Amino acid sequence: MIDFSLSTEQQALVEKARDFTKTFVSPVAAKHDRSGEFPHEVAKEFFKAGLMNPHIPKEFGGHGRTVLDHLLVMEEISVGCTGIGTAIDANSLSQTPVIVAGNDAQKKEFLGPMTEECMFSAYAVTEPEAGSDVARVKTTATKHGDDYVINGVKWWITGGSVASWYFVLAKVDTKPTGFLVPADTSGIIRGAKEHNLGQHCSNTVRVTFEDVKVPSKYRVGEEGDGFRIAMDTFAHTRPGIAIGATGLARAALNLSLEYAKRRRTFDKKLISNQGISFKLAEMITKIDAARLLAHKSAWLVDNGKDNNREAAEAKWYASDVAMEAAVQAAQILGGYGFTNEMPVEKLIRDAKIYQIYEGATEIQKMVIVAKLMRLREV
Ligand SMILES: Cc1cc2nc3c(=O)[nH]c(=O)nc-3n(C[C@H](O)[C@H](O)[C@H](O)COP(=O)(O)OP(=O)(O)OC[C@H]3O[C@@H](n4cnc5c(N)ncnc54)[C@H](O)[C@@H]3O)c2cc1C
Repeated sequence: MIDFSLSTEQQALVEKARDFTKTFVSPVAAKHDRSGEFPHEVAKEFFKAGLMNPHIPKEFGGHGRTVLDHLLVMEEISVGCTGIGTAIDANSLSQTPVIVAGNDAQKKEFLGPMTEECMFSAYAVTEPEAGSDVARVKTTATKHGDDYVINGVKWWITGGSVASWYFVLAKVDTKPTGFLVPADTSGIIRGAKEHNLGQHCSNTVRVTFEDVKVPSKYRVGEEGDGFRIAMDTFAHTRPGIAIGATGLARAALNLSLEYAKRRRTFDKKLISNQGISFKLAEMITKIDAARLLAHKSAWLVDNGKDNNREAAEAKWYASDVAMEAAVQAAQILGGYGFTNEMPVEKLIRDAKIYQIYEGATEIQKMVIVAKLMRLREV
C-alpha cells in the first residue's frame, strides 16, 4: 500500500514547526547571518517547544520520534534559516551513534541530561587528512589499564565549542572505534570558530585531543565497530540533510514566486514570461522530487530496512536542487538577487554546504554505484 498522507499528529507537528519558524527563526535569520553569533535563544525555545533532540528514546526521557517525523519539522525550520537549523539540530547527528550502538548506561548518562535542559553535543569524525575517506582517521586511542588515551585533531566539527560531549572516532591499533568524551575532560582544546561561506551562525571548530583519558565504559560498541557506527549514523541523518536542502529550495521558490508576480517589465508581470515561469515550474517539481526521496529514505530506515542507496540519492539530489534553486532565484530577482537587501544571496551561500558535509556529492554517488554494482538489473 502506498499512502502519502500525513497523520493528524504529523500534520500538527508540521504546523507547530511552521509557527516556530515564523516566530523564532525567520525574524532573526539575517541578524545571525550577519553576526555569526550562535543562536542560543532560538535553541532554548526549540528545546522548550519539544522539537529538539527528537530521536532520544522515550525510556531515556526523550520524544522517541521517527526520522520521518523529524524531517517534517526540519523542512519547516530550514525554510526560515538553514544556518539556525544546522546549529540547533546538530545534536541529532552526534546523538545517533549512541542511539544506534550505545548501551543503556551510555544512553542514560549522555542522552538523559539532554532531555532535561538545552544542551549540545558534537560529532567529531573528520580530520585534516580524513574527510570523505573516514577510514583514514589518524586520531589514536591507546589502551592504558581500564582507560583509553585519545590523541589527535578533529576539524570542522559542528557545535564543537558549545558541546557538552563528543562522539569521537579514533583508532585502537588499526581499528576505528567510537568513544563518548565529556567536553570538560582534561586535554581537550577547542579552536576558534571558522569563517564559513554560509550558515554563519552554525559553530564550526577544530577540536584537539591531547592525552585525553576516557574510561572503557565510554567506548561505543566494540573496538573496530567505529566505521560501521559512523555509516549507520549517516543512514539515519542523511535524509535530514536532504530535507534541510529541500527547505532551503522552498525558501528560494517562495522569494522567486513573490517577486515574479509583483515585478513588471515590458508592461507585464515577470511571471507572464515563459522564460521565468518555467523556472518556477522546474523548481517546484524538483522540490517535490527531493522531498519524496528524503521521505522514502527516512521511511525505509524507520522500518528497519537498508536505506543506504536511497539516503545517498536523497542527499545528493536535494543538495543540487537547493543550489540550483538559490542560483535561479538570484536570476529571477535580477539585481536584488545579488545584493544583501534581499535574502537570496544568503540562500546561495547557505546552500553550498549541503553538497559537502555528511559526505560530499561525489561520495553519495559512490554509495549509489556500489549498490548498483550488486544488481543485475534495476
Ligand atoms: C561547515 C562544515 C561542517 C562540518 N561538520 C562536521 C561535523 O560536525 N563532524 C564531522 O566529523 N565533520 C564535519 N564536517 C566535515 C565534512 O563532513 C567533510 O568536509 C566532508 O565529508 C568532505 O571531506 P573533506 O573536506 O576532507 O574533502 P575530501 O575528502 O578531501 O574531498 C575533496 C573533494 O573530492 C571529492 N572526492 C573525494 N574522494 C573522491 C573519489 N574517490 N572520487 C571522486 N571524488 C572524490 C569529494 O567529494 C570532495 O568534493 C563539516 C564540514 C564543514 C565544511
